[in-house]
Amino acid sequence: MSNQALSALAGQVTAAEFQVVGKSLFKDEFVTCGGVRLSEIDFKTMQSRLVPGLHFAGEVLDIDGVTGGFNFQAAWTTGWLAGQAMAE
Ligand SMILES: Cc1cc2nc3c(=O)[nH]c(=O)nc-3n(C[C@H](O)[C@H](O)[C@H](O)COP(=O)(O)OP(=O)(O)OC[C@H]3O[C@@H](n4cnc5c(N)ncnc54)[C@H](O)[C@@H]3O)c2cc1C
Repeated sequence: MSNQALSALAGQVTAAEFQVVGKSLFKDEFVTCGGVRLSEIDFKTMQSRLVPGLHFAGEVLDIDGVTGGFNFQAAWTTGWLAGQAMAE
């Protein structure tokens, strides 16, 4: 990424403004998308395959679920797995 593109991205992330004009329909409220690639994670320990000792859990992972419990379940399950592995 060029310095110009990086600067533009930083500006969007830190200073972008949005006007709220209403809300969408129920089941349409996806909040995040993207995150750490699942192929880079050992699911038994939630440890990074790239950086040993670094564990991930929850919404920082590239898992998108329809709202209604799937995101919570993913956060709790991966958090438990990561916590168990880190405690060992
Ligand atoms: C309005 C709304 C409604 C939702 N409804 C649902 C639903 O009905 N069902 C469902 O399954 N999911 C729902 N979700 C999604 C769900 O809440 C998230 O997927 C889940 O909470 C993610 O958990 P997490 O622990 O990964 O992240 P978070 O709950 O975001 O926890 C991250 C924590 O890290 C802390 N933190 C951030 N930066 C730092 C730092 N530098 N140092 C220390 N701490 C830091 C934050 O303060 C926060 O406490 C909803 C989300 C929103 C916003």
